Amino acid sequence: MESWISTGHLPNEAVVRQLVAEAHQRYGPRREGKVARYIPALASANPADFGIAVASTQGQLFEAGEAHQPFSIQSISKPFLFALICQAIGEREARQKLGVNSTGLPFNSVQAVERAEDGLSNPMVNAGAIAATSLAPGDTAEAKWAFIQEGFSRFAGRPLALDGEVYASEVATNRRNLGIATLLEEQEGIWFDPEATTDLYTRQCALSVTSHDLALMAATLANGGRHPLSGEQVVEPPICQVVLAVMVTAGLYETSGDWIYDIGLPGKSGVSGGMITVAPGKGGLATYSPPLDGAGNSVRGQLTASFLSERLGLHLLASRPASPA
Ligand code: GLU
Repeated sequence: MESWISTGHLPNEAVVRQLVAEAHQRYGPRREGKVARYIPALASANPADFGIAVASTQGQLFEAGEAHQPFSIQSISKPFLFALICQAIGEREARQKLGVNSTGLPFNSVQAVERAEDGLSNPMVNAGAIAATSLAPGDTAEAKWAFIQEGFSRFAGRPLALDGEVYASEVATNRRNLGIATLLEEQEGIWFDPEATTDLYTRQCALSVTSHDLALMAATLANGGRHPLSGEQVVEPPICQVVLAVMVTAGLYETSGDWIYDIGLPGKSGVSGGMITVAPGKGGLATYSPPLDGAGNSVRGQLTASFLSERLGLHLLASRPASPA
């Protein structure tokens, strides 16, 4: 059978190690951006924290700074949830039920549901991700949660736990996501109780990860769904292809166009300051740095992704890798 997995490899280890260290030195001093405050528990994040992790599809890891600092996964859960749902119900049905076109709107837009006649958005924004959560297999919230938590843990290659403080803080304030879920119900675009689904979505956003974990999770998507260290086939290769496609069109919300223009790779950001970038066939990059730009994307994360994409020669459309020093 022909391979579904893109090929290629990162430059040699010394080059990657040196460039990861250089990115950390270059962007550590940057002070732009603001830590997210709309979820109260996120407001206490340290704006100086800055971690970088690169994982190759062979399982080599390159890290700098706070790569082992835990934080809540937030919207970076969306591509992994979508992957698990596609694996469970098939990517055709997932597309038909959730949509795959970018909205050009902020992540938590209610308009994303009203915009199109069919109410469809895409699984990288809250509306589509909440709808995707409702499709998790299981008749009860507990069964759906077990499916989600186990699936995410397989992507990480270790059991992932909930950040209870972030979860409680978001549950107390997430009226907007509840509004989106209610609107989806009116459009017949949600397949489980809206309140219970919003709660599950919020829980999934509060799973605690590190940049190290996210780099391996991103590398699993880069590797046709097989975890580089555990060797587990978490999802099938064709699923990764469609997940990466929606990350290209909608991973950075309304700035996804700028992102693909500059970085040229599938990416996903989250409001806690995490960010992943996937170089198909080669590896995954993850960063953690809480200060965000106006669209909710980590400032240092974007600078790092841009620098490393260029210097490691990762741009999907055309690129020139750095030669060894
Ligand atoms: N839990 C957050 C929300 O739904 C995730 C948003 C994000 O990371 O962009 O508001």
